[in-house]
Amino acid sequence: MADYKTNCPHTSDHKPKCVCRHVFAGLSEQYYRFFNGQSHEYDLVCNQCKKYLDRIRINMKKVCHTCFEKIESDGEFVKFLGAPEITKNSGKLSFEHLRTPGPIIAGRSIRAIQPIIGVGGSKWVMVDSTSAVSILDLESFTLVTVTFLDLEKVNLNGKIGIKVSADGHYAAIVSRVNRIDGERDSNKGVVLDLHSGLETMVLDRGDYYTELSEFSIAFYDYNDKVYLVHATDWNRLDVSDPATGELVTERSFKQRPKEAWRFKYKAGSEFYGNLIVSPSNKRIADFGWCWGPYGALSSWSLPEWLEKNVWEADNGPSKFDMNSYQYYWDGAVCWINDNTICAWGIGDDDENLIAGAMIFDARNGKQLSWFPGPGPSLFTYDQYLFTTELEGNSTSVWDVESGKRLHQEADFTPNCYHHGSQQFLTALEDGSFIISYLSSPD
Ligand SMILES: [Zn+2]
Ligand SMILES: [Zn+2]
Repeated sequence: MADYKTNCPHTSDHKPKCVCRHVFAGLSEQYYRFFNGQSHEYDLVCNQCKKYLDRIRINMKKVCHTCFEKIESDGEFVKFLGAPEITKNSGKLSFEHLRTPGPIIAGRSIRAIQPIIGVGGSKWVMVDSTSAVSILDLESFTLVTVTFLDLEKVNLNGKIGIKVSADGHYAAIVSRVNRIDGERDSNKGVVLDLHSGLETMVLDRGDYYTELSEFSIAFYDYNDKVYLVHATDWNRLDVSDPATGELVTERSFKQRPKEAWRFKYKAGSEFYGNLIVSPSNKRIADFGWCWGPYGALSSWSLPEWLEKNVWEADNGPSKFDMNSYQYYWDGAVCWINDNTICAWGIGDDDENLIAGAMIFDARNGKQLSWFPGPGPSLFTYDQYLFTTELEGNSTSVWDVESGKRLHQEADFTPNCYHHGSQQFLTALEDGSFIISYLSSPD
């Protein structure tokens, strides 16, 4: 093992990292992370040195990795400078695209669409601009309308969200409406039985700043039964049986035990946001926000919540924060497996996030790795991480182990991904669709 010389009191097993002499000497607490053109490596530089990035090398001190991390955590990070290098390894993968024979939904526009992932085939549930809820089958190219939404309960002027149970039996459809002067917000929704077309539940999370984050809804399976997690207030999530609406997580916030308060006892609470469930339905992640405001990406165990501790979602022992971000929440996230979660954006402030992915261990909240490049849309994982860069109008395929971009497909920005059929769906303006697959020669 090589021992590298450093300017700190330690030798280093790894190539030392660089810090400007002012940050090194503690003359500047604030520091900038400057990507120095060598892959993901960055140096720490002060406000003065950042003006001379082309010639700061003479001002740099070498430190071991432990000292580097200590300087980072003790000081105050201001901004990234430059850009990390994206590692590319193109060649083997490509996409195949198939267009449906003709328009399937001519004359209407899609307001929300989600796949039915557990029933085989290529089925999707969609809400369109006429308030129809339909099942789209892209094997038979048919569209069957199940019902029309009750517009008293789901305001089509709002941002429509939809989640579908894996067995295709239930859909939760919600509307998030921004504050209108003199009117209450309308952050409400319904649960539909897609077999009968009947409404089984009405969803309501109140109007206390609930327009600022996604309406939290997620289905999951546990012991061969379907459950729905849904927001029942700005700071409360519950689990219900979507067939009957029966509440499974009955608890009174008036008798909330001290340990069930997150942050400061009786002062802190959180606004829930977008929920995503891990592949085997073991954990759930929320990307909501707290006063500051800052976004908080957290996760907890679903079986613990149902079996052991009714306060698990509030502040149970399995709940961990992965990252917090000034003024940024409901960002793109996906599960890699039941223990690992991947979130878009490198940094901790909405004004200072650079394109990339951060990977966390959901069981303790620790960051495992990061890599630069991925864009903020279509964040989905299935063997590879798929991301869409709207600026470049392209979709990229990433290996999360190495952080390498394996392929980039130009002029391709699909709406969503079907984990069952492994298809990407793109809706076209004329009412037809393109189905795309990743193909590899191996
Ligand atoms: Zn300096
Ligand atoms: Zn050191």
